[in-house]
Amino acid sequence: MLHMTTHGPVRKLVMARAFFGRSFYHTAAYWVDGLLIDTGCAYSARELLEATRPLPLARIVNTHCHEDHIGGNGLLQRERGAAIAAHPLALPVLADPRRQYLQLYRRVFWGWPRPSRGDPIGDWVETEHYRFQVIATPGHSPDHIALFEPREGWLFSGDAFIGGQDRAARPDYDMYAIIESLRRMAGLDPAWLFPGSGTVRQRPAEEMRHKITALEELAEKVRRLHDEGLPVEAIRRRLLGPEPGIRWLTLGHFGGEHLIRAFLRER
Ligand SMILES: [Zn+2]
Repeated sequence: MLHMTTHGPVRKLVMARAFFGRSFYHTAAYWVDGLLIDTGCAYSARELLEATRPLPLARIVNTHCHEDHIGGNGLLQRERGAAIAAHPLALPVLADPRRQYLQLYRRVFWGWPRPSRGDPIGDWVETEHYRFQVIATPGHSPDHIALFEPREGWLFSGDAFIGGQDRAARPDYDMYAIIESLRRMAGLDPAWLFPGSGTVRQRPAEEMRHKITALEELAEKVRRLHDEGLPVEAIRRRLLGPEPGIRWLTLGHFGGEHLIRAFLRER
């Protein structure tokens, strides 16, 4: 399933695998001025190819190498000849997506991407009418970058900002790096946020600062309870309550315990 909407010169493409006419776990890609930012998952690659066929396409940038952001790379590169740029750490995964292990839920919802060939991204990405600054935003993954167009105030943030309250994490999240990246993005004071979730927001800095405060307060509480000798499981129950449904869906890959452990790691 693919749904395209227009935000000024930016096209938003929201994609997901459909099951019996229903779709879950959408991811968004954005097209602007011949540049495509992320390519959704493998299951929606052909729809993305068809939806973007009328549009000029010179280049693809991947915000990070998770399978729901690089799934259309291979097909679009082959059919449209688009050059791909990503963080150097993402390139081996683009070339051989099977280097990244996909748990069952990831294979079901997003699938294995086709291989693609990327070049290391520089400090800026230029299109005919715009200049995008490449902002390092690690934490969600080590290779995560965001694109910021200073004149327009557009921030394409991939998964570096996820709205709502955090009650679970993957074991590989670096929560302190996530906080640092949020601080960096809020400091840009973007006029518009175009995130990987597809929920476009205006003036997101305030919401980002709330998130930073909430995460710092949670980190503080976790460390204090840990110093008092409480085990991780008890800290989780006290601070996060019952495990969210996503824990069962992901067979434990996403869980509250991982979030607690992330705050107890060395900074
Ligand atoms: Zn991701």
